[in-house]
Amino acid sequence: MNISDAERVASVLEKLKYKETSNINEADLILITMCSVRQSAVDRIYGLIEKFKKLRLSNPKLKTILTGCILKKDRKKFAKNFYYVIDIKDIKNLSRLLGNRESSTKLRPEELNYLDIAPKYSSKFSANVPIMTGCNNFCAYCVVPYVREREISRPAKEIISEIKNLVKNKYKEIWLLGQNVNSYKDGKTNFPGLLKIINNIPGNFWIRFTSSHPKDFNDEVINAMAFGRKITPYLNLPIQSGDDNVLKSMNRYYTVKEYKNKIEKLRNKVPNIALSTDIIVGFPGETKRQFNNTAKLFRDIKYDMAYINKYSPRAGTPAAKLKDNVSTVEKKKREKILTEILKQTALEKNRKLIGKETAVLINENRGDNYFGKNEHYKTIKIKSDKNILGKLVTVKITEAKPFTLQGELIK
Ligand code: SAH
Ligand code: SF4
Repeated sequence: MNISDAERVASVLEKLKYKETSNINEADLILITMCSVRQSAVDRIYGLIEKFKKLRLSNPKLKTILTGCILKKDRKKFAKNFYYVIDIKDIKNLSRLLGNRESSTKLRPEELNYLDIAPKYSSKFSANVPIMTGCNNFCAYCVVPYVREREISRPAKEIISEIKNLVKNKYKEIWLLGQNVNSYKDGKTNFPGLLKIINNIPGNFWIRFTSSHPKDFNDEVINAMAFGRKITPYLNLPIQSGDDNVLKSMNRYYTVKEYKNKIEKLRNKVPNIALSTDIIVGFPGETKRQFNNTAKLFRDIKYDMAYINKYSPRAGTPAAKLKDNVSTVEKKKREKILTEILKQTALEKNRKLIGKETAVLINENRGDNYFGKNEHYKTIKIKSDKNILGKLVTVKITEAKPFTLQGELIK
């Protein structure tokens, strides 16, 4: 979502006739789209402030602006260090804030809603398309509902026309983004409905989406995934904890059993589905026994990937009022235990792919080493003497590691 925000900021700046530079020493204006989900991301901003102070010694005219997800209390703290601190929803006002360049921004009237600002895509083959913003869920640990406010869905018409345009321009991968895509709603179009409409757009492209809240992930979404040939067989379904009492304190509104039932239904309908999850270890009060339930869940589900986070208190959230009583050492230990289980299950699954062919979208290269993600969102490494960056290719898997696969280019 942050990358997608930055693409909209870049588009507004381009309309203001700013040119992008890869050399920070040359910049007259630096705009940061920050993230507040974890304290570590906020702390990085302090590092940048010091860097900007040094840059200003040789370029006193340098302006720095902070936007993205910013907590109210941080906004006040950062105000003295930036030329402006502005809400991401107000980036349309950049022209006014930056002074006398007003006449050169001509946002279309429909672009006054920030999500409808046509982005400057950072890739020529993979595009981020936000379908909604905000969150109504108020999980006890999370700042998102405070920084992004309430859920707003983008009109389906706008989304579809953006995607049609991307497909016309040969984009191969479309990421539908939102904090809880399953609660997307525009009139009669809900998320599964939107998936079906997008799937029916003619062209050779992949549909991916994130994030899904397990409480709203239902049969209708499962059916849409099974039906949609362009919807890749990959799902990130964040469980956060494998213990019902912890889930209750986290305010997540589902039980482990309900989550597992949904996974079982999904695996029945989409047998080759690859699964990832998000986890928080060391939530206030998480006992060893409760953590062991998460470890057990990892062994049972056998995830392909997991994003494991050590709990960090976020001011203003209900969990911040609870004692952060799991030590850093213990959080690290729990993180390591889950990572070890994950490595085993992911390796076990990846080994089964040796000798098989898989479609890969190549997104990076270093010399003749190319890297990409396959339809299961697994990282694939191959060698190629011709330039295949941005191409959808077929690869035969030759070697498996827990988090990467090596292959040979077939076509
Ligand atoms: N909307 C998504 C999550 C968005 S935040 C969902 O419901 O799953 C991305 C991830 O950051 C979360 O899944 C969670 O694992 C992690 N996270 C959020 N707040 C956190 C906190 N206070 N401490 C540690 N991890 C946190
Ligand atoms: Fe945060 Fe996701 Fe929960 Fe919303 S659903 S409060 S974004 S973790």
